[in-house]
Amino acid sequence: MLKTSAARTSDAPFSVKISPRGVDRLHSGHPWVYRSDVAVFGDVPKGALVGVTDPRGKFLGSALYSSSSQIAIRMISRDRVSNLPNLVAERIRAAISFRERTVASTNAYRLIFSEADFLPGLIVDCYNDVISVQILTQAMDTDPVRTALLQTLSNDLNPVGIVERVDGRIRDLEQLSPRQSGLLCGEKSSTVIRMNFEESPGTQAGGVQFHYDGLEGQKTGAFLDQRENYAAAARHAHGEGLDVFCYQGGFALHLAEKCSSVTGVDSSRPALEMAEKNAALNRRELEWIEGNAFDLLKDYDTAKRRYDTIVLDPPAFAKSKNDLEKAMRGYKELNLRALKMLRPGGILVTCSCSFHVSSQEFLGMVSSAAADAHRQGRILESRGQALDHPVLLNVPETSYLKCLVVEAK
Ligand code: SAH
Repeated sequence: MLKTSAARTSDAPFSVKISPRGVDRLHSGHPWVYRSDVAVFGDVPKGALVGVTDPRGKFLGSALYSSSSQIAIRMISRDRVSNLPNLVAERIRAAISFRERTVASTNAYRLIFSEADFLPGLIVDCYNDVISVQILTQAMDTDPVRTALLQTLSNDLNPVGIVERVDGRIRDLEQLSPRQSGLLCGEKSSTVIRMNFEESPGTQAGGVQFHYDGLEGQKTGAFLDQRENYAAAARHAHGEGLDVFCYQGGFALHLAEKCSSVTGVDSSRPALEMAEKNAALNRRELEWIEGNAFDLLKDYDTAKRRYDTIVLDPPAFAKSKNDLEKAMRGYKELNLRALKMLRPGGILVTCSCSFHVSSQEFLGMVSSAAADAHRQGRILESRGQALDHPVLLNVPETSYLKCLVVEAK
């Protein structure tokens, strides 16, 4: 079945018509049109390349079709596309060129960020010599597209291994056959990465190193979107540091470059075991505490523990709009406790990766926590995700990470 749909992607024989509301959406610059705004002609296969027309039949562009997602089509071009695998290869090369221009001082970065690289449903991360791939839509899962992806990555980047990370829930939603995570090419799925190093000709000195295992861990294995925020945190950090929700020590190990001592807190033991290995790799001694961040901050606050630098980087509390109120209460509690625990002149690095929490709401929450903690806060930096996770102006979904660096009087 997949073979049939894939073979037909080359001549785009399928077409869909969208409603006036769908047309407005495309004109606003957003590439998605929902199922309720799409009329499908004939038996369009899963993941097919389709021509898109307005209600009068005027051609609007080419899109990728999903037979199961509420997002029925994702635009891929304003033009007629005759060969999807070739277009995918071209876009991958454009993504490589964008990273060459915008990413520095790291050998780990996101190479393809789905819609933001005009490849809906494809995530590719480079970890030194290992590449991690995630496929999230029917179109990207077709055989010819997979082949084009692997060939282009292998030829242009020459990795020692390409691993696929499978999100079973998404494959289910997209009605794709189950797959296991595993090596797609080469023989190596783990490596060591280095980020935020001094760039000098021919050498990579300093910076922070991390073990990377393509078949373990959360997300695609590391939180690359925070890379530039790690450096920002290190710029302002001092004294005793506390990294809350530390995972494998991303912020903690950067704080350790400036702080006299650093403690990392997380509820995941495997994450902390890796954090300890990462500390050894960087020849650092840090303290790791396994526990629930809410309980621990409450206990520390009651016990009047004080710190000079605190990082809060919780998981996305608002997974949907419905969770927003509860999520904001969670963020507020954490920020309030952290602000109370900072010594005068202390630094709070506070983050939210919930798309549903806007920058304004996030700023409002931190401001209200500061007022309740009777602290004046001065914003030193207002930040987002690293530049290798680009944001598209008319696609709000591409912008999700917020990070404020605040000095507490
Ligand atoms: N700061 C990290 C990423 C944090 S992701 C980095 O830059 O790499 C969120 C982390 O929160 C995960 O490691 C998860 O295990 C942890 N977590 C989730 N709920 C928690 C809780 N209630 N208490 C402590 N840690 C929690």
